[in-house]
Amino acid sequence: VAVVWARTDPDGPDAGKVRGFVVPTDTAGFSAPEIHRKVSLRASVTSELVMDGVRLPAEAVLPEVVGMRGPLSCLNEARFGISFGACGAARACYEAALAYAGERVQFDQPIAAFQLTQRKLVEMMVKVQRGTLVALHIGRRKDAGTLATPQISFAKKDNVAMALEVAREARSVLGANGITTEYPVIRHMNNLESVYTYEGTNEVHTLILGQAITGLSAFS
Ligand SMILES: Cc1cc2nc3c(=O)[nH]c(=O)nc-3n(C[C@H](O)[C@H](O)[C@H](O)COP(=O)(O)OP(=O)(O)OC[C@H]3O[C@@H](n4cnc5c(N)ncnc54)[C@H](O)[C@@H]3O)c2cc1C
Repeated sequence: VAVVWARTDPDGPDAGKVRGFVVPTDTAGFSAPEIHRKVSLRASVTSELVMDGVRLPAEAVLPEVVGMRGPLSCLNEARFGISFGACGAARACYEAALAYAGERVQFDQPIAAFQLTQRKLVEMMVKVQRGTLVALHIGRRKDAGTLATPQISFAKKDNVAMALEVAREARSVLGANGITTEYPVIRHMNNLESVYTYEGTNEVHTLILGQAITGLSAFS
């Protein structure tokens, strides 16, 4: 089945509010063609969901959940996890760069001995540790039952952006080797481009935070 969250008819009983639908994938008009030529998250299949005149019985509607509470309760779980996963990707890139910088010799010394490389490594380390602390903090908030949606946006938005910055910096430390999949960095970097967009784009999480601090919605 596909679980589809969709806005209902504005003149219907749910007055245009979002409801969840369980759609059997063999329903007439439903198809999920695979998206080809991806250069990000290549190990998993990504499909477009096409619904052309799909009709469903009333029991396909997920009961009781009306409005954004349903999808948000699912999305919050995934986005919470992503804020940790991004730290893992960032740490892998930082550690690859640190190891490489200690081994790669130029001008008779490891590139880790150059001040510019040390600055890159230190800034990467600080960013990874800072993001990990944010993830740890929201984890504790979740355990305490006090985690708010904008805090998840904070962690998802900032940790993924942080991880992309770290991946790009690590890529530069590896020089030309950084563009090959012999090292994990460019794989993480390309995968993080998907993570930047899915589970709430960086822009949309920015708007959620903007609304939280100003009280004004910038969504159209
Ligand atoms: C690998 C992968 C797997 C995915 N898996 C799933 C999945 O399992 N389930 C699922 O539902 N979706 C999935 N997605 C889809 C993903 O959630 C969407 O791509 C994402 O929400 C952005 O939607 P869009 O691509 O239509 O971009 P658009 O909505 O067209 O946005 C394009 C750009 O405009 C910006 N933008 C849009 N509206 C505004 C606004 N009001 N203000 C400012 N900027 C705005 C966006 O942030 C983005 O930068 C997946 C995507 C990828 C890449």
